[in-house]
Amino acid sequence: MPTKKQLTESLETVLVPGIMRSVVKMNLVRDISISDQKVGIELASATLAPPVQEWLKEKIEGVTGKIKGVKEVNVSFTDSTPKDLNQISHIIAVMSGKGGVGKSLVASLAAIALKRQGYEVGILDADITGPSIPKMFGITDRPSGSDTGILPVPSRSGIEVISINLLLPSEDDAVIWRGPLIGKAITQFWEEVLWGKLDYLVVDLPPGTADAPLTVMQTLPVSGVIIVFTPQDLTMMVVRKAVKMAQQMGKPIIGVVENMSHFYVPEIDKKIEIFGKSRGEEMASAANAPLLGQLPIDPELAKLCDEGNVEQYSAEVVDKLGQSLSKSLSIKAK
Ligand code: ADP
Repeated sequence: MPTKKQLTESLETVLVPGIMRSVVKMNLVRDISISDQKVGIELASATLAPPVQEWLKEKIEGVTGKIKGVKEVNVSFTDSTPKDLNQISHIIAVMSGKGGVGKSLVASLAAIALKRQGYEVGILDADITGPSIPKMFGITDRPSGSDTGILPVPSRSGIEVISINLLLPSEDDAVIWRGPLIGKAITQFWEEVLWGKLDYLVVDLPPGTADAPLTVMQTLPVSGVIIVFTPQDLTMMVVRKAVKMAQQMGKPIIGVVENMSHFYVPEIDKKIEIFGKSRGEEMASAANAPLLGQLPIDPELAKLCDEGNVEQYSAEVVDKLGQSLSKSLSIKAK
């Protein structure tokens, strides 16, 4: 008689079209029954259009039918919503006191670093009014799905991404929305997107400390917050506001990241603090949280972002960021 383990292993090889993650990773397998040589597999139909269901059915019959002792395979579908199926261990919200400090970039690098450690990672671009994540990753494909929900779009390294930019008719369309509408869009990203099983979901919050980031933090079960800032004086003040807001919301601050902390000149082997003296330690103590990293101003990084190749960036500071994150929100190492 076949075992459940054998069947699950064979289902691991069946990838969901449009996302290229297995039906197991997408948490679509609801039940596996075995009686004698007959096998029953029940899948959730969420986000799966009828032709996709048909395709998966055939594929599953094919792979499980090959297992020794299996004579008959029955694949059935049951209704369910993405929200019921999503199993996300940690949600990391990335916040900044104001726009243009590199919040989206830090969110991207955090996701990339965690992915490189072998975790299942997604990015929810909640910066609805300035969605820049798809551009950095070079993602232009539109999400697929059905009436019951949509699937995120995988990046080249397999990070699942959803952003309003992937749903708008043209990438350049400006989104001018008021608070309640932003809240609604984010709720949909949360409830109607099938993320499946993820170790980490990184959320790129709208900038600032006004209503929009607040709504997102109230909508999602955020595990903790990363605060991004630059060494400029004014930023320090707004950052203090961000820290206060996170604390008022009862969200722990995982750590702070200083962006554009310095510029390294290899010819003279010197770090130049262009925006003034680094405030990393000072900020960390103000937030009562660790300094997770100090990113230099790096023209190579800016170039990779512009080209949609941010995943090619490799630097020690990025590896360290990932290690600190997985350590503070621990999941058993892969
Ligand atoms: P925010 O989300 O805070 O508005 P972004 O993360 O979108 O800011 O950053 C805007 C752009 O600034 C990036 O696409 C990148 O080109 C550039 N940038 C940000 N930080 C750096 C850095 N440390 N080195 C080089 N370029 C950077």
